[in-house]
Amino acid sequence: MKINRKLKMGMVGGGPGAFIGEVHRKASRMDGQIELVAGAFDIDPEKSKQMGKQLYLDPKRTYGTYKEMIDAELSLPEGERIDFVSVTTPNNWHFPIARDFLKAGFNVMCEKPMTFNVKEAKDLQKLVKKTGKVFGLMHNYTGYPMVKLARDLARAGDLGEIRKIVVQYPQGWLATALEKTGHMQASWRTDPKQSGGAGCMGDIGTHAENLSEYITGLKITQLCADLTIFVKGRRLDDDGNCLLRFNNGARGILHASQISIGEENNLAIWVYGEKKSLEWHQEHPNYLYVKEPDGPVQVWRRGNGYVAAKSPAAGRATRLPSGHPEAFFEAFANIYCNFADTVRAHIAGETPDELALDFPKVEDGLRGMLFIDTVLASAKSKQKWTPFKKG
Ligand code: NAD
Repeated sequence: MKINRKLKMGMVGGGPGAFIGEVHRKASRMDGQIELVAGAFDIDPEKSKQMGKQLYLDPKRTYGTYKEMIDAELSLPEGERIDFVSVTTPNNWHFPIARDFLKAGFNVMCEKPMTFNVKEAKDLQKLVKKTGKVFGLMHNYTGYPMVKLARDLARAGDLGEIRKIVVQYPQGWLATALEKTGHMQASWRTDPKQSGGAGCMGDIGTHAENLSEYITGLKITQLCADLTIFVKGRRLDDDGNCLLRFNNGARGILHASQISIGEENNLAIWVYGEKKSLEWHQEHPNYLYVKEPDGPVQVWRRGNGYVAAKSPAAGRATRLPSGHPEAFFEAFANIYCNFADTVRAHIAGETPDELALDFPKVEDGLRGMLFIDTVLASAKSKQKWTPFKKG
């Protein structure tokens, strides 16, 4: 059945003072395809109600817990109840919440890292397959038009065979024991019971891993990792450096850090091929640099016709004319846009448009969890190379 209305979204997480839930709320409504109608926004039921009020939601659809939300939404007639839920809680909650909503028949958009450990990731993959529901993962950096262009250039063979990939995600905000000051985002990220086995490598190393595989289409097969806890008393890595080997023989370097003072969100990638190379920076996302052996550096600029001509996916992910910058919110909106089109097709029993299927899925989430596991194993091992764990 085709639906001729906005998709109805529910949210778990994103209570007062939370970071990413609000980004999801703003980005999901950017294209007028989605409306937030329900939520269990906070671990504290009172704060969840407070958030619902702040968002002018129907008080009957602001819930104290996510389980209450599932039961109450299921009791509503189809068409009124939510079409999907977005999970924006700390990592330890992703799996139980995603699992229970999938089992109840809802589509799910989930934050990264997808789960708390590999077992949960594998279970979730099986469940997505069994239920046939749409599952999206918020690896938002793949939502940038110039990342899509980079992917299309690399995959069309414009770079030639890829030889080397350098990817980095340095931040500096955890250079001191911020978690001891009661800082909400620092507290759970440095707690192994909420964050998982890795700190920095799980939080932002997984973005770097995902970006490198998305752009090149290659898979990491082996790695050699060195993890460090620099801040005294911290229990999870706050800095990590990895050497990588990819399935075509390409070599790579991935580093992520939360103690690199002065760095904000300096995610960047360099891809070196036999013929050309690419360079992209998240902090200047409207530009993609293409370099040749004997020629000036090309600067491909978002919003121009030549970008859309080379990469229809980049064209589709662009809203403003060139020179009016688009960035973080728009990249989230692009993931939502493709996810929403896929959910609509799913509800209508149709095959989604090929371009709409370009959003991170459960398989990407499993790769991320395998990456974390392999990095942790390698950091403990005395061997130089650790094979990438099997899915
Ligand atoms: P946060 O601490 O700012 O917010 C977490 C929110 O979840 C809080 O409101 C908290 O009360 C709520 N919560 C916790 N458990 C809950 C439960 N069981 N039910 C309902 N609400 C619950 O955290 P954050 O920085 O927004 O991070 C949240 C998630 O988003 C993490 O998994 C993180 O890795 C991810 N994240 C992704 C990006 C990205 O770029 N894709 C950026 C930041 C965070």
